[in-house]
Amino acid sequence: MYENDEPAPVRLDLLVVGSANADLVIGVERRPGPGETVLGSDLVVHPGGKGANQAVAAARLGARTALLARVGDDAHGRLLLESQQQAGVDTGGVLVGGAPTGVALITVDPSGDNSIVVSPGANARLTPEDIKAADPLFRAARVVSVQLEIPLETVAETARSLAPGSRLVLNPSPPAPLPEDVLSACDPLVVNEHEARYILGDTAGPAPEDWARTLLTHGPRSVVVTLGAAGALVADSRTADCVRVPSPEVDAVDTTGAGDAFTAALAWRLGLGDELAAAAAFAVRVGAAAVTGQGAQASFPTAAQVAEV
Ligand code: ADP
Repeated sequence: MYENDEPAPVRLDLLVVGSANADLVIGVERRPGPGETVLGSDLVVHPGGKGANQAVAAARLGARTALLARVGDDAHGRLLLESQQQAGVDTGGVLVGGAPTGVALITVDPSGDNSIVVSPGANARLTPEDIKAADPLFRAARVVSVQLEIPLETVAETARSLAPGSRLVLNPSPPAPLPEDVLSACDPLVVNEHEARYILGDTAGPAPEDWARTLLTHGPRSVVVTLGAAGALVADSRTADCVRVPSPEVDAVDTTGAGDAFTAALAWRLGLGDELAAAAAFAVRVGAAAVTGQGAQASFPTAAQVAEV
C-alpha cells in the first residue's frame, strides 16, 4: 500500500478492483480419475486472475491503470506484482499478506480440455475495509472495473465507493446473484452468453438483443453482451439503442483472457469519453487481437498491435 512518502496517483484512466492468481498449468495425457495419479509435463506458472488480467490489458494499451487486489507474501505474489509492474500498472494498491496468493491448478489434456481447481487464497481476504482505505485511488479514477473473483461484499463496497462523475464497469464472472444496488451502479454490465443466461434464467429470450433489453430492466444503465467471434452487442437505457458491434475476423489460437482484454479496453475508452458503441468497436479489436496469441496476459496487444487487426 502507499507508504507515507509515496503519493497515490492523482489521475488514473482505470482502477481495476479484483483478483490476482497464479495459474499453475500441467499438460497430461488424460486427467486423473478419483484416487488415481498420472504423470504430467513440466509445470508452467502464468500470472492470471481476472483483475490482474484486466489491469495488464489496459496498461499495455497505454491506459494509466492501477490494480487494487490482495496477494500473499510469497513467490506467486511477487510474480504477480512483477508482471503488473512490467506492463506499467501502478501496484501501490496491491495489498500483500493475510493468506497465500490465489492459485488456479489447471490440467490440460491433448484435446485442450482442462480441469481447474481454484484456491482463492488472498483474493478472499480483500475486504470492504481495504476498499474504504483505498479512497485516494477511487478519487483518482475515471472508471472502476470490478469482477466477482473477490468477496461479494467487497464488490458492493466498490460500487458504493465511486467518486462523483466516475463510472463502474462490472463483469459478473464467475456469475453469482447480485444485489440491486450493485446492478444499478453498472454502466455497463458486461456479460458473455453464459453470464447473461445465468442472470436471466428462464427470462432469457431467444436472441442476444432480448437478453440485453431484459438485463437493462434489472437496473444497469447500460449492458454489453460479448458474443465471441461475432463481436458484441451494446444497449443503453438512456437511448434505448441496441447495437451490434461485429468483430474483425481473425485466426483464433487461444481465447483465454479475451473477455478480460475486451472489458479492460472498453472501460478505458469509456473513461476517455467514447460513446458505448465506439468503445465496444475498439474493444472487439482488442479481443480479436488477444485470441491470436497463446495464453492470457501474454496475448494482450499494444495499441500498435490493435491498429493492425
Ligand atoms: P469470454 O472470453 O468472457 O467468454 P467472449 O468469448 O464473448 O467472452 O469473447 C470476448 C471478446 O473477445 C469478444 O467480444 C470478441 O471481441 C473477442 N473474441 C473472442 N473470441 C473471438 C474470435 N474467435 N474471433 C475474434 N474475436 C473473438
